[in-house]
Amino acid sequence: MNEKLIEKKLREEIRKLGGRAEKFIPTYFVGAPDRLILMSGGKVYWVETKSTGDKLRDIQQTRKKQLEKLGFKVYKVDSQQALDRFIKDVRKDAI
Ligand SMILES: [Mg+2]
Repeated sequence: MNEKLIEKKLREEIRKLGGRAEKFIPTYFVGAPDRLILMSGGKVYWVETKSTGDKLRDIQQTRKKQLEKLGFKVYKVDSQQALDRFIKDVRKDAI
């Protein structure tokens, strides 16, 4: 599945749950994940979308680790299965 389709599905699933999946276009924070997922109750997730099989670049891997160290949840979503797992986690966290 290509990245554009995965992003579209991600936006739709998050919208269904009443949240926002905002495109994050950083000026200086190079390698930051593509989407900031904002959910009710102040819950925040970062998602890097990729075409199926594509790996994170080194800088993306570094940013993921930096964000995780701060306690953020960072997901790589590159397939329907990965999207389903992410949505399941978001639902589990929902109040
Ligand atoms: Mg991407």
